[in-house]
Amino acid sequence: MRIANSQRLYLLFSTNTTCCAIWGVINPDSDSLGLNGPRTSGKVPGHMKALAVSLFLTAVLAAEARVSPQNLNRAFVADNEYIRLKDWANDAGFNMKWVKAAGTITLTNPSVKLVLTVDTRRAEIGGVNVWLSLPVVNRNGAVLLSLVDARTTLEPILFPQKSDARLKTICLDPGHGGKDKGEVVGRNYEKDYALLLAREVEKLLKHEGLQVLLTRDSDDFVDLSSRPLMARRRGADLFVSLHYNAAPEHAVGGLEVYCLTPAGMNSSDKGGGKGLHPPEAGNAHDGQNALLAYELLKAITAGMPMEDRGMKRERFEVLREAAMPAVLIEGGFMSNPADAKNIYDTAFRKRMAQAIVDGILAYKRAVERIPNGPSPAAH
Ligand SMILES: [Zn+2]
Repeated sequence: MRIANSQRLYLLFSTNTTCCAIWGVINPDSDSLGLNGPRTSGKVPGHMKALAVSLFLTAVLAAEARVSPQNLNRAFVADNEYIRLKDWANDAGFNMKWVKAAGTITLTNPSVKLVLTVDTRRAEIGGVNVWLSLPVVNRNGAVLLSLVDARTTLEPILFPQKSDARLKTICLDPGHGGKDKGEVVGRNYEKDYALLLAREVEKLLKHEGLQVLLTRDSDDFVDLSSRPLMARRRGADLFVSLHYNAAPEHAVGGLEVYCLTPAGMNSSDKGGGKGLHPPEAGNAHDGQNALLAYELLKAITAGMPMEDRGMKRERFEVLREAAMPAVLIEGGFMSNPADAKNIYDTAFRKRMAQAIVDGILAYKRAVERIPNGPSPAAH
């Protein structure tokens, strides 16, 4: 995917930013807190222990009292709001290393590593490929990250919002059906394999104690708009659409997980960037959409020997109208010989189904405040 590098990029400070010198001032380097100082060995005096506890609590409280990305100093690049990556990284507790020759920035904390590349929308979060809406840019020697990507991608994936709500019902949406065959490769129809996969996922989710509903459980034609509607009427907490891909070039293969494009942005396959798109109903769940897509892609790529084509954004009809967090999985290319062999294989399909369930359970753990507590449904 080629980014529109010819796009005119310029830097203007927003009205709430009074001076360039403000950059970096509000977020002292972690070194200044002594967190990266040399370790000492041997007996630690009491007052030092107290200081260590105090520093630890300060760090914990600082982590709790994060500055919302919207409240970091902002700049405009080609009409899009950006924040300085170093400000965000400091606030989020990441160490940042920028290898200028390669244009790569690595952000690390004890639990995850992020890799961003200047002038691209490619991001790697914990080894999983994620497409940003806007490229990371270098302006006047500072790496800038778009506010929309901080808000709708990095923050929700790295710092999931927990709630007391329990995730109980999953709506599985096997793509196509009936007169709509989906992709056709030889005598193989996408609609058939999507349904077979949905049935495997259904079995495993039920085994985990979750309720499952399918938008179709036979070879029926189901209108696109009625699928998310069905999920809403039947009280689903998540919507997972299952599809397979095809491309004219047989070499193209791999997995993609899609969630709804943020309002005002172009979709991944259109190159991202600003677009004239008003918010859709599904944008109410931008953060959870991204987290669900990420956890699914992470679980599937961990368990399957398939290329990771990344978490992407698209305005698919089933995602636009979803009243709950929603994603669409493209589980490989039927036109790619290696993928096709897997897609048509029953044992492989069972493994794929297990990986999808693992991703859903990872999402559930990330968003539920008491993951191991008693389910309200049990009362
Ligand atoms: Zn499809």
